[in-house]
Amino acid sequence: MSAQQRLLFDLFSSTPVIMPGRNRFEDRVAALLKDLPRLTEAEVVAAGERDGSCSVCYVPYLAILAEEETASAMDTPAQPLEHHGLTKLSKPWQCGHIFCRKDITKWIKDRNDSCPMCRKSLLDPNVQEEAPSLQLFGGSPELAAFYRQQGFNVDERPVDGSSRGPTSSFNGFA
Ligand SMILES: [Zn+2]
Ligand SMILES: [Zn+2]
Repeated sequence: MSAQQRLLFDLFSSTPVIMPGRNRFEDRVAALLKDLPRLTEAEVVAAGERDGSCSVCYVPYLAILAEEETASAMDTPAQPLEHHGLTKLSKPWQCGHIFCRKDITKWIKDRNDSCPMCRKSLLDPNVQEEAPSLQLFGGSPELAAFYRQQGFNVDERPVDGSSRGPTSSFNGFA
């Protein structure tokens, strides 16, 4: 067998079990969205931003707050409440810029991880994203190296009869 044939054989005869790594981008973004604070008019005034406006949609901050108040008084607002009002990028590592929640939510959901105004990171720079890990039952060192090249943390488990991979105990969808 050539090295390539061997790799193909290994790919089909081994059992990889993939576990997502911790602190995935998706999880960090979801936490970021969940944590966005809701600013009050007093907070906007205290920040010296009474006459400011959202730098994405140019609507004045106070108009956005007035619209939020109207929406929260309605039984069925046209937009979910989390899309109303203002928020501030106020985590210790963030820049402190204020935006309407609708624009910054869309911005983050579009996979942007920096402030639309100043490009400072929205995500905690001290949190490391882990690569997904992969437990490999069977296969060869070459196959493990192949998966490592794809960015996985590979944990090799020899198949020796005493520790079979999960497929050996798999008995179908009964
Ligand atoms: Zn806006
Ligand atoms: Zn900023």
